[in-house]
Amino acid sequence: MLINPRTVIKNGAVIIKNNKINFAGNFNEIDKSQQQSITDLGNAAIVPGLINAHTHLELTHLDGRIDFTGSFADWISKIIQAKKAWTVQDSTLSVRAGIKKCIEAGTTTIADVTRNGFSLSELQKCTLRKFVFCEVINFDPSQAEETVIDFKSRIKGTNEDHLLEVGIFPHSPYTVSKELYTQCGKISDDLKILFSTHICETDEEIEFLMKGTGNLADLLRNLNMLKGWIAPGLKPIAYLNNLGLLKDNLLLVHCNYVSQEEFMMVEKSKGHVVFCPKSHRYFHHKNYPFQEFVTHNINMALGTDSLASNDSLSILDEMKYLYDEENALEPEDIFSMGTVGGATALGLEERIGKLEPGFDADITVIQLPEDVNGNFFENFFSPEAQCIFSVVSGSVCFDKYGLYNPL
Ligand SMILES: [Zn+2]
Repeated sequence: MLINPRTVIKNGAVIIKNNKINFAGNFNEIDKSQQQSITDLGNAAIVPGLINAHTHLELTHLDGRIDFTGSFADWISKIIQAKKAWTVQDSTLSVRAGIKKCIEAGTTTIADVTRNGFSLSELQKCTLRKFVFCEVINFDPSQAEETVIDFKSRIKGTNEDHLLEVGIFPHSPYTVSKELYTQCGKISDDLKILFSTHICETDEEIEFLMKGTGNLADLLRNLNMLKGWIAPGLKPIAYLNNLGLLKDNLLLVHCNYVSQEEFMMVEKSKGHVVFCPKSHRYFHHKNYPFQEFVTHNINMALGTDSLASNDSLSILDEMKYLYDEENALEPEDIFSMGTVGGATALGLEERIGKLEPGFDADITVIQLPEDVNGNFFENFFSPEAQCIFSVVSGSVCFDKYGLYNPL
């Protein structure tokens, strides 16, 4: 059992009482005189529930259908094209398929971005803990006001509960005007909701903001969206900083290309970074600047992004990939990003991300390979390791083998 990224306990057990963790430690330390039902999970690791801090469930059915041929702008055009004929039913089924994949992968908390609201209604019905970020897109400054009114109407009537929070997600600096970005920041402050955006994802994005040229500028110009626009001449995070948007409730998704000046801006703001490792690989990006984020004490979470740039919605798969490919990271650091890092980014570091008494009972159980060689992380990140059981807020969310059989 892994209580937190740095404490491994053999023969571990967790007691859940009133949806909270009551005990997490060695099975032998449990007071057996207390009446309780016991679920034996076998040769498995009990870990804090895995947290996916960035995905787009609505794109699940694009799995394997969008190829990347070197231009990010072309990749975006292909997604728009592929989804053009989708009905409401198509989008709904795509979201449902995504939710199923996430649950089976052992995710207990998900931060999803919804374009049309389809995932909001579907996620509301499921047992995951969820943050639904409503996407906002409009590059026309004159439409900033009405886009914000539309956002408010989209979230109106949403019944937030202990498992659901709504957030705002202006898509990116090349699809959202600076006026709209500013309005989104204001809404986030007024409604006290989380704010997230794609940022520093590609060289093309940097060229667009610095010079107003390149593939993204061509794409927007062809759509007649650049009339009267002048490039700000700033790097992406510096641009957000200039708009007063860097705060501790901001989740910066990607951050593949960040300048020294921008690292310092994020550090100062106490904002969070969400890294999507396999999506990073899909687009053949350069080495990720892990060490810089560590040096600047910037909290890092993990996301899968969508199946338009990944083959899995599993945070465990993202961690396995990092374990295999990133020599710069200790296994504990990788594990931390998928648990406590995600919890911190989502403002829940006092409630989830660790197995500690008083924390909400969000738990993932990973079956380990039979050949246990004593190295916990080597087994945990091995290809055979897979989720067999999960609990969200004390309720069973996934039970692959029907192990849970209360008295
Ligand atoms: Zn994304």
